[in-house]
Amino acid sequence: MTGKTPKHEALVTFLTTDYAGITRGRSIAAAAYKPNQKKSLGWVPANMSLTPFDLIADPNPWGSAGDLRLLPDDKARFRFAIDGSPSAMDVVMSDIVELDGAPWICCPRSFLKQALGDLEREAGVSLISAFEHEFQILDAGWPAAPAFSLQALRRADPFGPALMAALRAAGVEPQVFIAEYGKDQFEITMAPCDALAAADRAVLLRETVRELSRNRGWHSSFAPKTAVDGVGNGVHVHFSFNDAKGKPVTYDASKPGGVSQLAGSFVAGILRHLPALVAFTAPSPISYLRLQPHHWSSSYTWFGDQDRESSLRICPVNRIGKSDPAKAFNIEYRPADATACPHLALAVVVRAGLEGIRQKLAAPPLFSGDPTSLVDAERQALGLHRLPQSLSQALDTLLADKTVCDWFAPRALETYVGMKRMELKLAGEALDDAQCRRYAEIY
Ligand code: GLU
Ligand code: MG
Repeated sequence: MTGKTPKHEALVTFLTTDYAGITRGRSIAAAAYKPNQKKSLGWVPANMSLTPFDLIADPNPWGSAGDLRLLPDDKARFRFAIDGSPSAMDVVMSDIVELDGAPWICCPRSFLKQALGDLEREAGVSLISAFEHEFQILDAGWPAAPAFSLQALRRADPFGPALMAALRAAGVEPQVFIAEYGKDQFEITMAPCDALAAADRAVLLRETVRELSRNRGWHSSFAPKTAVDGVGNGVHVHFSFNDAKGKPVTYDASKPGGVSQLAGSFVAGILRHLPALVAFTAPSPISYLRLQPHHWSSSYTWFGDQDRESSLRICPVNRIGKSDPAKAFNIEYRPADATACPHLALAVVVRAGLEGIRQKLAAPPLFSGDPTSLVDAERQALGLHRLPQSLSQALDTLLADKTVCDWFAPRALETYVGMKRMELKLAGEALDDAQCRRYAEIY
């Protein structure tokens, strides 16, 4: 052999984001990864029963037996530099499959693909989506700065420019970097794209923010609350529909709020099942510190026009210099946070929406006001039902919703609920600052 031994060998990591919302994977030499060769790596069924605290739920349906494969999606490889990282980020989103290549019943990414496929087949539309994330940088030692201020942005410099550059290089189409309302809180939005890619991008965004922060000796957190009295970190999932020809079909000027019949049925399906869905989209004990009235997060089954307290919000359309509102028109799902797996969260939203389309449900009435100022009977009449107020309540509500349970293979549901119950046991009852900090370390 001649020449110098390189210091680093380029690696590519096959990734999956699991029921705990944690992105895990295995690496091989990048030179050994050849697209279209269906190269896969081993994976273990009981991994899906891992709680965020790194203990496997006991009992779980899998035990020590069985083997699976991580099968990369060649179209979902992302290679890009992150400021301060010694090697490039090189990852490929993968599906968890059986040894014969069939999707594994618990694979969240396959579950999302199946839901999107059913939506396309049955309703003739594809889903366009974008995930909007809030997070906090916890220990940068910055002086205080006002919310939304230039100071708050510049204090973090060049975090914002470096984040935008990394995401741009990854092909993730970052849009707006914001110093948010909460203490040391930021937000980043990405352009809408096809729904599977949007969930993949959510994973990349979280990991890029984390790595960029680590490289600066900071800790960033997407936990739904990092302090009981603090502002929540939300994940808002925007969605709209295109027909088979790529024409946007979410908007109809003649309907209340401009919501087309199809989109109205989809929204109605989501609202009907929302109390069960939050077990997947707001899936940690501290998620319920965020899902409270007056948190701009959502706490009732509520369809709202440009109201940030609603659970499904019609987003404003900017008409300055633009002629066709149909293109930008979208609705956002607000009761989600980053303790959820983006693929699983989006999949249950799609499944619920599809139920609404199948049953041709009418669009729910739009509500504006403060549900807490109404009495129970008034709220009921308006269809405003309080969302579960704890994770254990959410899990019970999920198990009582047979329609939602039936979307899952029985062992997949058992895996999810078993893992969450174990998480509750490990986390304990306290919903205090110490618990928030505990979650902030993980998420
Ligand atoms: N921080 C709020 C949440 O927890 C969202 C605020 C906003 O509308 O941007 O969802
Ligand atoms: Mg925000």
